[in-house]
Amino acid sequence: MLKTMENCLFCKIAKKEIPSTLVYEDASILAFKDINPQAPVHTIIIPREHIERVSEITEKNASLLGEMALVGNRLAQKEGVSERGYRFVINCNREGGQTVFHLHLHLLGGRSFRWPPG
Ligand code: AMP
Ligand code: ZN
Repeated sequence: MLKTMENCLFCKIAKKEIPSTLVYEDASILAFKDINPQAPVHTIIIPREHIERVSEITEKNASLLGEMALVGNRLAQKEGVSERGYRFVINCNREGGQTVFHLHLHLLGGRSFRWPPG
């Protein structure tokens, strides 16, 4: 059984209890458009399993991060930003800028990004 959380926004999106613009789904991963996009391409990639933050990745579930990156790469290709460049972001906890406590990878593309980030 997959671990999901009653009051988690992204679990609700995964269970289709809240609408989203889905761009990809399989047995373990889901991707949907960010509701408040920070770039022309801004997609959120999540595991179906409720893992609160990237610091909770363990030897047991680490392969999920690889699956998320694979999906992100394919979506970047599909959106036509792969060659130009794109950014993967995972925010962790307060100072990392995390606001939704269900592990997610941001795929951002379609414009130039600065470094270091703000
Ligand atoms: P983070 O700050 O890394 O936790 O990112 C959370 C992201 O989720 C933000 O970019 C929000 O715009 C996005 N977000 C919040 N609610 C929704 C929603 N209902 N559908 C899609 N994206 C959302
Ligand atoms: Zn969740």
